[in-house]
Amino acid sequence: MRLTLTEFAVLVACVPMILIIVATIISRTSRVRAETRAVARRVICRLCLHAFETTHSGVVECPRCGAANERK
Ligand SMILES: [Zn+2]
Repeated sequence: MRLTLTEFAVLVACVPMILIIVATIISRTSRVRAETRAVARRVICRLCLHAFETTHSGVVECPRCGAANERK
């Protein structure tokens, strides 16, 4: 298979562009998923407004003031 100069130039311009677009889509998707997971684990204390993350469900204790907070 022989490429003309025009085909080669288009190939050299398009392949990196496609790779960059795919990498951008993957990066943004993973960032949005990580943020969604972090927000789902976040609890804000009802007394001292300290924000912390926990994987426990139900009632969790604030690490700063010890108040019981209900995780939704
Ligand atoms: Zn607290």
